[in-house]
Amino acid sequence: MESLKKKKERTIQIFEILDPLYTHEKTALKYRTPFQLLISTILSAQCTDRQVNQVTKTLFKKYRTPQDYLAVPISELEQDIRPTGFYKNKTKSIKGCSQGLIDLHGGKVPSTMEELLKLPGVGRKTANCVLGAAFGVPGVVVDTHVKRLAGRLGLTENKNPDKIEKDIENLLPKEKWRRFSDILIYHGRDICKARKPDHARCPVFKLCPSNSIS
Ligand code: SF4
Repeated sequence: MESLKKKKERTIQIFEILDPLYTHEKTALKYRTPFQLLISTILSAQCTDRQVNQVTKTLFKKYRTPQDYLAVPISELEQDIRPTGFYKNKTKSIKGCSQGLIDLHGGKVPSTMEELLKLPGVGRKTANCVLGAAFGVPGVVVDTHVKRLAGRLGLTENKNPDKIEKDIENLLPKEKWRRFSDILIYHGRDICKARKPDHARCPVFKLCPSNSIS
């Protein structure tokens, strides 16, 4: 079995190989305030960033504050965000979260994990996204790509995203956490896809224990 020391070394190597390959990529969600980022992140579940940006282009003109999201009927907000999928649940999350922001934080987005997690509809993934991008707080974002790649690369044995987050944090210095999440997301979209990982094109092939799965 691989020792923790070896696994840390291997993780750093993976980081160093993949990091320069995705320098042109940016967080694709478009937002101007932490509140907009929070809404975009909620909408991004099971949806591409491009589609979210398409919807928020008009959404952010219509809704500027948490109060605005609460003021419209549920059915109207559902229609406004419908193209992002799972719109009923997302509407519930946006309304709950907006109410929480007003009740607990005077309508402002808080900047700690603890406070963000108290908002209805906000899980660790959303919270880490907002903390990292809007407030510069280090954290590992575990989305579907990070979950899959962390498993394939042998960085975790866990399936639970909260545990995967801790496992990855344990392997890298703080300042690399956020970037590593982004790298895995890009690599997952580009090469290590869910259905058919393209081992032949993979630059970390030699460091990956799953390099023969089909
Ligand atoms: S070798 Fe294959 S399974 Fe491993 S990271 Fe690369 S594409 Fe994914």
